[in-house]
Amino acid sequence: TLSDRLSSVLQNLRGKGRLSDADIDTTAREIRIALLEADVALPVVRAFIAKVKERAKGAEVSAALNPAQQVVKIVNDELIAILGGETRRLNLAKTPPSVIMLAGLQGAGKTTLAGKLARWLKAQGHAPLLVACDLQRPNAVTQLQVVGERAGVTVFAPEPGNGVGDPVEVARRSIDEAKRSHYDVVVVDTAGRLGVDEEMMRQAADIRAATNPDEVLFVVDAMIGQDAVTTAEAFRDGVGFTGVVLTKLDGDARGGAALSVREVTGVPILFASNGEKLEDFDAFHPDRMASRILGMGDLLTLIEQAEQHFDQAQAEKAAAKIGTGELTLEDFLEQMLAVRKMGPIANLLGMLPGAGQMKDALAQVDEKHIDRLQAIIRGMTPAERQDPKIINASRRVRIANGSGVQVRDVNDLVNRFYEARKMMQQMAGRFGMPGGRSATK
Ligand code: GDP
Ligand code: MG
Repeated sequence: TLSDRLSSVLQNLRGKGRLSDADIDTTAREIRIALLEADVALPVVRAFIAKVKERAKGAEVSAALNPAQQVVKIVNDELIAILGGETRRLNLAKTPPSVIMLAGLQGAGKTTLAGKLARWLKAQGHAPLLVACDLQRPNAVTQLQVVGERAGVTVFAPEPGNGVGDPVEVARRSIDEAKRSHYDVVVVDTAGRLGVDEEMMRQAADIRAATNPDEVLFVVDAMIGQDAVTTAEAFRDGVGFTGVVLTKLDGDARGGAALSVREVTGVPILFASNGEKLEDFDAFHPDRMASRILGMGDLLTLIEQAEQHFDQAQAEKAAAKIGTGELTLEDFLEQMLAVRKMGPIANLLGMLPGAGQMKDALAQVDEKHIDRLQAIIRGMTPAERQDPKIINASRRVRIANGSGVQVRDVNDLVNRFYEARKMMQQMAGRFGMPGGRSATK
């Protein structure tokens, strides 16, 4: 995944402050591969990377994030923007019935979606009517009836008087029926072919013309990857659509189809379908799709948390002190509390790329232990926190009693503190500090 690949980049970028062109190029190259692996169409990848590079070069230096994290954040922001930013809601008519028409290739998941949509609309207090306009396949009508029954929704099917054999006529009559029987949303299921063909397009266009839908949803299988672009273009030109629904997101598709279709057509993605059951359905969330495409949701969460809780002034102070060996227990306590705000330590470390090698270390991180350390430090006077060596034996007993620990825990902390300070001085020399405030300055 991208996060695996980026971990080496992350290590090479050890706390440099400003994004150099070379840093941006290296990171962009990895992201480009990740996008191609996610099956995003090549022209879309190119345009996208160009945009990201431009933004990265003009980016302000962030104190909370290292350079690679900054690029990842920019990529993520841009992805979310391209995927539509906010989730767009379904357009319904002011005067019912609203008409929602489903279009797409055979097997895309239109009929399944019809059932999901009907169930979802019903749950929101609507009275949907499903309309069977796929008269192409022998079992299509029965399939919709089964789905309708499961969703507890009426299906309008061709039968004598309903326009047998002519999908356009069936669609037209279904709207009369909706008005007569007070259904407020009509969901029209249409036929699809395995490939794009003119007759199918014409039929769908005719149904659209006859029903004047409030939404035409182009239903596309996320698993078809790059083919989604040509299919979307054909439907855009042949029928036209107002929204996109991605299906089969429960498969191993990385979601590149979403980005491609959205970028090429400019039409928002409204819903995501992720399973064969009626409830496997949700509004489309651009942020979730962005992290799926990048394959690094966890790293993004970490970046978000780092930005939220990062206290620049405090970190700079600590960084400077680490470098000069002036770090005190006071700083130690502050840092611990800052890290604590970001969530359990094990989770936090687990989110870092390359944390696999840190598994053993993680197993030893004990939250309760940190609580104990905090209690001990809080029991010290400010002077003692500055220089714990001044704490004599009787003070150690009082601090231990006051914080509910053993004297040896206090001794342990003092000894460990000096060890840690020594280690941090060595580390500061090797890695620098977040945002590049070099530890030696
Ligand atoms: P249509 O030809 O466009 O009407 O497609 P269908 O609704 O008949 O779906 C084709 C096949 O895909 C069926 O076997 C569905 O059960 C399956 N399917 C539809 N949506 C999803 C989905 O979101 N996830 C999975 N795994 N299968 C789906
Ligand atoms: Mg169907």
